[in-house]
Amino acid sequence: MSFINNWLRSDIQAISAYHVPASDDMVKLDAMESPFPLPDALIGQYLAYLAEANLNRYPNPGADELQQTLRELMNIPAEFGVLLGNGSDELIQLLALACETGDTILSIEPSFVMYGMIAKFTRLNYQGVNLNDDFEIDLSATLSAIETHNPKLIFIAYPNNPTGNAFDRSAIEVIITSTNAMVVLDEAYYAYAEDSFLGDIAQYPNLVLLRTVSKIGFAGLRLGLLIGSKGTVAELDKLRLPYNINTLTQVSANFLLQEKDEIDKNAKAILVERANLSSALKAIDGLIIYPSQANFILFKAPSANALFDYLKDNKVLIKNLSSAPNLDNCLRVTVGSAEENTLFIKLVKAYYD
Ligand SMILES: *Cc1c(COP(=O)(O)O)cnc(C)c1O
Repeated sequence: MSFINNWLRSDIQAISAYHVPASDDMVKLDAMESPFPLPDALIGQYLAYLAEANLNRYPNPGADELQQTLRELMNIPAEFGVLLGNGSDELIQLLALACETGDTILSIEPSFVMYGMIAKFTRLNYQGVNLNDDFEIDLSATLSAIETHNPKLIFIAYPNNPTGNAFDRSAIEVIITSTNAMVVLDEAYYAYAEDSFLGDIAQYPNLVLLRTVSKIGFAGLRLGLLIGSKGTVAELDKLRLPYNINTLTQVSANFLLQEKDEIDKNAKAILVERANLSSALKAIDGLIIYPSQANFILFKAPSANALFDYLKDNKVLIKNLSSAPNLDNCLRVTVGSAEENTLFIKLVKAYYD
């Protein structure tokens, strides 16, 4: 037996690593990235700004300027606290680290896989509750799971990944008021959604939100945030590793996230493209298209595996969810640029012709 097999926790040996497929030369519609690069006109100024960074020094520990930039970008009221993470994934992990041995993380399914993975890494229990057939929250099943498992943390993605819908608001309100758990509403797709719980934080002491800049054009920066009451954030901040937001991310975000008009314009363009993509898919016989409030669309397709492979052979990468529980024959496509979406639709049509 090798050293590592002797050494490593057996539950970690038993899991398969989070798989990121190769995507060189591919039209990448698998990971909810923005198709829009930095505008050329900004690059010179951006580089000059970066050149000022003191890379011989540790980063600003609290990323104070960046906190302010994010508050302005996302209209976060001054009364709330903000905790920054190296991607919101890091904040999910930080919340798990705040739990005690034997605690349970509860989420709905299908949803973002990191909730379950991080529960496993941190040796917490994980309990999933299935959505109903319309991908809505099954409130009675969720409330009874809360009763049975007494979770410490409840993660709900709003809108949900990979289904794309935003759950019924009143169901979420009932969940928040029916539990002692901290309820984490993950608003990674806030820029594409009709509703948010940002205005509700003051009302519910056990509610916090997660957001990220990954889905609004800056996946490469690795920057996420938790928004909650000042008291909650001050305590959770003790678990944050010092300097977790590196200087290049702080400086880049401070410069790039000032471009609010550009960011809003890009988000609006994605909404237009999402509507176009959705109607084009609906016009193809045999496909079922689910409604989306995010920058991706989930759809069900006859022989989804074969369609996925055909797209991949033609250099278009989407996400194959067809072997995931309750997602039989489902595929998820990120809303790309007009050209990318047109190419994708052309291939799907060609496949079924
Ligand atoms: C993409 C995604 C994230 C990950 O965000 P990062 O900030 O890139 O770590 C978190 N939650 C949901 C629901 C997502 O879809």
